[in-house]
This record gives sequence, C-alpha cells and structure tokens, in this order.
Amino acid sequence: NLTDKLERSFQILKGEGRITEINVAESLKEIRRALIDADVNYKVAKNFTDEVKTKALGQDVLKSVKPGQMMTKIVRDELAALMGGTMTDITLEGNPAVILIAGLQGSGKTTFSGKLANLIKSKKGRQVLLVAGDVYRPAAIEQLKILGQQIGVEVYTEEGNQNPVQIAENAIKYARTNHLNTVIVDTAGRLAVDEQMMQEITAIKAAVKPGETLFVVDSMTGQDAVNTAKEFNDRLDFDGVVLTKLDGDTRGGAAISIRAVVNKPLKFISSGEKMDALQVFHPERMADRILGMGDIVSLVEKAQEQYDEEEARRLKKKLVKNQFDFNDFLTQISQIKKMGNLKDLAGMIPGVGKMLKNVEINDDVFKQTEAIIHSMTPAERADPSIINGSRRQRIATGSGTTMQDVNRLLKQFEDTRKVMKSVAGGMPKMPKGFNPR
Ligand code: GDP
Ligand code: MG
Repeated sequence: NLTDKLERSFQILKGEGRITEINVAESLKEIRRALIDADVNYKVAKNFTDEVKTKALGQDVLKSVKPGQMMTKIVRDELAALMGGTMTDITLEGNPAVILIAGLQGSGKTTFSGKLANLIKSKKGRQVLLVAGDVYRPAAIEQLKILGQQIGVEVYTEEGNQNPVQIAENAIKYARTNHLNTVIVDTAGRLAVDEQMMQEITAIKAAVKPGETLFVVDSMTGQDAVNTAKEFNDRLDFDGVVLTKLDGDTRGGAAISIRAVVNKPLKFISSGEKMDALQVFHPERMADRILGMGDIVSLVEKAQEQYDEEEARRLKKKLVKNQFDFNDFLTQISQIKKMGNLKDLAGMIPGVGKMLKNVEINDDVFKQTEAIIHSMTPAERADPSIINGSRRQRIATGSGTTMQDVNRLLKQFEDTRKVMKSVAGGMPKMPKGFNPR
C-alpha cells in the first residue's frame, strides 16, 4: 500500500536528518499515482502533492520516527484537511426541519433517506416523516414504504398525484398537524443530469425551503461523481454531500475530488443496504481509507495470481456490451472459489477482518446459487430476460429451492450486471489489477 511505498522511497533517507527535495520527489510521484488510482481528479492530486512538498521540505525528521512515517503523517493530515478537516453536522432548524435529498437515479437516495430517518429518530430522538417524492415509479414509493416499516417511520404518499412539489408541501402541512418535527423528502432521479430533473428538484427546493439539501452520489462512479456533483451544485447549491456504496471496492477518492471541486462538506458515508449502515463523515478516517490502510493491495495481488487474464478481457468486453450472462456468472463463481479461503480474502478488507473473527464463512454459500443456475436451460442462461413466471417455478423445483430464492438470485444478477457494466464502462483502467506482472 501507499504507506509501504513511502517507506521504501524513504529508505534512502536512512541516516539523514532531513527531508530533501531529491528524496521527496519519488514519494510524491507515488502519492500522486495512488491518489489518481483512488479516483482523485488529476489536478486535485497535483495541487495536493505540491502542497505536501512545501510542508515536508526542510522538516527535521525526529529521531524516533522514520522519515517515511513522518511523510505519511503529513500526507494523512493534509488529506484530511483537504476533505474539510472536521466533520460537519446537518441543520435541523425549523418546525418541521426539512431535509431534501437529491441525486441521480440509482445513487442510493431512497436507501439513504431511510437510513437518515433511522439515524435522526434513534440518535436525536426526533419524530420523522419520510416523503415519497419519486412519483414516476410506483416501485419507488413501495420501496420507501417498506423501509419506513422496517425502521418504524411514517411515510407520506399521495396516490395518483404526479406533482412532487405539491406532495412535498402537503407533507410539511401534514407533519405540522401531526407534530412530526423532521421531514425528509426523497426525490426522483434520472440516469443522467437532465433539464427536467433539475427543474423539478429546484422547484421542490424553492417550495419547501429545506434547512438542509443533501446531494447523494454513488462512490463507485469514480470520476463521473465529480462532474455530477458540480452540475447539481451549480443548480441546487446544496449543503452537503452523501457518498454511498462505500462497502464496494472503491477507496473513496471521489470524496476528495468532490470536496475540492464544489467546496461543500461531505456529511455522511453510506456503506451497505442495512438501515444502520450509515456513518457520519470523518475526514481523518477517510484519509486512512484512501491511503490504503488495511490491505487492499494484497487482496488484489492474491486475486491476480489466480485470475486468467484472457478471461478478464473477455469478460470486460461482455460487461460493457451488457452481454454478461449466467454462464459468465458461473465462471465467476468458480474463479472466486479458486482464490481459496473466502474468509482470508474478506479479512484483508479494512474493517472487515475484525468483524469476521467469529464468523464461519465457507464456499457453501455458492452451492445454492450454482444449483439454481444449473437448473436453467442454456437459452435461459444466455438470456435471463426470457425467464418468466413458469420458468422460474420450473427452475425452483429443479434446483430444490423456492421461487423466492430464484427471484432473489435473478434480482442480484440484474443488480450486479448494472453495477459491473457501469464500472467496466466508466473506468477503462479497471482490469489493470488483473494484468500479469
Ligand atoms: P435511488 O434510485 O437513488 O433512490 O437509489 P436506491 O436507494 O433505490 O438504491 C439503488 C440500489 O443501490 C438499490 O439496490 C440499493 O439497495 C443499493 N444501495 C443503496 N445504497 C447502498 C450502499 O450504501 N451500499 C450498497 N451495497 N448498496 C446500496
Ligand atoms: Mg429512489
């Protein structure tokens, strides 16, 4: 990881008492590369290393610490400073306090709305009302209702009303009459920034005057996250950023770029689909993550040893064309199994190792999945979209599972496909980790 790289590049400093220009150049290059690998915008990374250089040069190296350690500390502090230094709380003023949630479709708005409601209810003891402002998809309203039920928070909906501005206004009146002091308005997003979405969200903002407008962004979208943040901020002038899906294998470099580009604080990080998987954003913890504490690199290296490069290339092509099918899914599973003990692999992810200490994980988790896929016909595997109700029933019977199990796998597969497609398409450098040395 970056810390090791710094150590190595500072070997040369042994016996010397100062960080000098020549010694520092190599490490700064490493740092810049690591930042860019973690999705930090190039310009931001460059400015950052220039800043670190100024700070580091000429500093006396304390006898007890190695120069590399000292350099790491400078980098970590600077990184944290770049992300805002201290954590920033949300505003809960007004009666009711109104929080507006904005972002692209699929960024995690609805999930986050539920998590935030849960946090505010349980940690701040407030009475929360969730508002279903995504009126275009009945499934979105249903999704929020289910989350509300899980966390015991009322969800305001208006069946048949297609006007989210009205709904939000009515919800606030409803909250007042019913002594609910916090209103969280979930809104509709689209797949890309477009005029209609922007007009709608600005109209809602003008109508309900939220004390807090939060922009939700999927950390797995990498560099795109920065552009999206900028466009939303230009129109909406939001108050804070929420970074979601940090449970994926992103390092969260987007956090730095976004902060640098829109100059708005990051307020929450969301990592997981469970309702309590929400954390207040701490710049220092994020700096550690970006610097690669934990051992992500060895995880990648281990995977790389086992992974067939040809296969990776073929897969990427399919992913980008959205042709990834259940046959590939099976191949993936056998690749993962080849990598050996899952627990070992998972343990290398920062924070996960400790959690897993008393948990038994074994390869049986894949058995059911494989059974279901084996019960599909070749045509179904190649084109899962043809798997209708009666086919699902047949597959369930054939694999000794239930309809629910089959449905769950199909849903997971669709989700995986979506995510993988966007990852593979948006980040051409992704398979780099899989290249042979
Ligand atoms: P919206 O369209 O912006 O409302 O996004 P959703 O909240 O519906 O989330 C889109 C998908 O991402 C859903 O399948 C969620 O379960 C999933 N999701 C949301 N947040 C997270 C997260 O922090 N981690 C993971 N792994 N999945 C998430
Ligand atoms: Mg939604």
